[in-house]
Amino acid sequence: MAKTVKYIFVTGGVVSSIGKGITTASIGRLLVNRGFKATPLKIDPYINVDAGTMNPYQHGEVFVTDDGAEADLDLGHYERFIGTNLTRASNFTTGSVYGAVIARERRGEYLGNTVQLIPHITDEIKERIYKLAEDSDADVLITEIGGTIGDYETPPFTEAIRQIRLDVGRENTLYVHVSLIAYVGPWGETKTKPTQHSVKALMGIGIQPDILICRSKKALTEEQKAKISLFCSVPIEAVIEGRDTKNIYEIPLTFEKQGLASLIIKSLHLPDSSPDIAEWEAMIKKQRRPKSKVSIAIVGKYTEHGDAYISITEALNHGGIANDASLNVKWVESDDLLEEESAPQQLLQDADGIVVPGGFGYRGIEGKLKAVQYARENNVPYLGLCLGMQCATIEFARNVLNLERANSSEFDPDTPHPVISLLLEQEEVDDMGGTMRLGAYPCKLDPDSLVYKEYGALTISERHRHRFEFNNEYRQAFESHGFRLSGLSPDGRLVEVIELDDHPWFVASQFHPEFKSKLLKPHPLFRGFVAAALKQKSRK
Ligand code: GLN
Repeated sequence: MAKTVKYIFVTGGVVSSIGKGITTASIGRLLVNRGFKATPLKIDPYINVDAGTMNPYQHGEVFVTDDGAEADLDLGHYERFIGTNLTRASNFTTGSVYGAVIARERRGEYLGNTVQLIPHITDEIKERIYKLAEDSDADVLITEIGGTIGDYETPPFTEAIRQIRLDVGRENTLYVHVSLIAYVGPWGETKTKPTQHSVKALMGIGIQPDILICRSKKALTEEQKAKISLFCSVPIEAVIEGRDTKNIYEIPLTFEKQGLASLIIKSLHLPDSSPDIAEWEAMIKKQRRPKSKVSIAIVGKYTEHGDAYISITEALNHGGIANDASLNVKWVESDDLLEEESAPQQLLQDADGIVVPGGFGYRGIEGKLKAVQYARENNVPYLGLCLGMQCATIEFARNVLNLERANSSEFDPDTPHPVISLLLEQEEVDDMGGTMRLGAYPCKLDPDSLVYKEYGALTISERHRHRFEFNNEYRQAFESHGFRLSGLSPDGRLVEVIELDDHPWFVASQFHPEFKSKLLKPHPLFRGFVAAALKQKSRK
């Protein structure tokens, strides 16, 4: 007999960015802690077919899954909290739903019918939800609806999830609403009215929330909870406080303490058991009491948007915990390194490690090259991620191999030394996402390399999102100068990781290791990088 899948739906009210993603990820963690298989799904109401074409300034980082989806950054939170690797089926948008329905209409599959929002669009949404539950063998499917109740774009999705309760039954569905508690006036008086309004809007479309997560700055009093309970028609034990915390990984524990997991399990008629939280608690404890502090500079060009590099800051955070260290991350805008001759020294001298993350386009490159040069010449640990490896290659070509005007053919099509170039034919590039090499690719490591020591494995798999590659014509020139090609594709054609032999810790990869780091499984490169930064600090 097929198992009965349980469905949890997470919506948000009042304002966006109130932590629906972290809430969804935390609920997933609570269920995993009790031995259930939880599959998360993010529905994005925007019209882009996927997040791949969006600028990180607008929507934060583009997360990449093993199967090459360019997804919403919330999938990163889900993976880091739940500990599983997701697929492209865990994220879809309005654009992709309409695209599929319109394509079907053109193929004549609705012949004779008027194609409408209800039932055709809503059916497509429901089918995707049911299919993901089945394909992923989920005990519980947790669906987060992006945006806010009341947005013009959300009704097709809220209508679909309203219908799901009718389809599969009350005992198999749960509606969780995340709302904001506001503070107004000179005394910061607590206001629950916005939450009441948002629940009213939700009820107007036929959804009575079962659980309210109240995002708040201060503790909610019993009186305030009672008021919310009464006005929103939610039992008082289902009014859960979502207090701001410095550390997002504490949220599953605070939810557990408030009885959220038991409440979910009871409502969904799931068997209860005691949660396995020892490992998670141990990580939180380590994070609370770091033995040392280390300073890391991230040299990028979207440094004013905190979410643009979220997987990197989280991976660094995991690497810090693994080393019992807290990190002081300093954001350096790459163009600032060009201001004057001494700018790299001024801006980077207190960094114990330097990261150059991925990115697109020429702007910011020359500043990043300055950061690489500073790290290389001053023996400062360096971690280059995708574009960060391309910059390390260009810098080495110019300043060590003395190849004049060496560059990536992306940035200077007329360069006499295209040390980074387009290597793969269009047909060879995975066609799932258009023109880029996307998703997981295997890589073989050189057993004599530092990278091999960090991974402790000869074959690894990491995620990619780029078009350009190390130009093989220059391999010999680089290798003969201690620029080790420490990771290659299994057929040997593509350079995937490099390191400098003559440097305490200088590693750069064509892939994005940050996408695979998880709280309970810190990524070896980030763990190694932070360890090297700690050593660097002790040398100072
Ligand atoms: N622009 C580079 C490329 O496409 C790097 C991309 C990235 O850093 N993700 O190859």
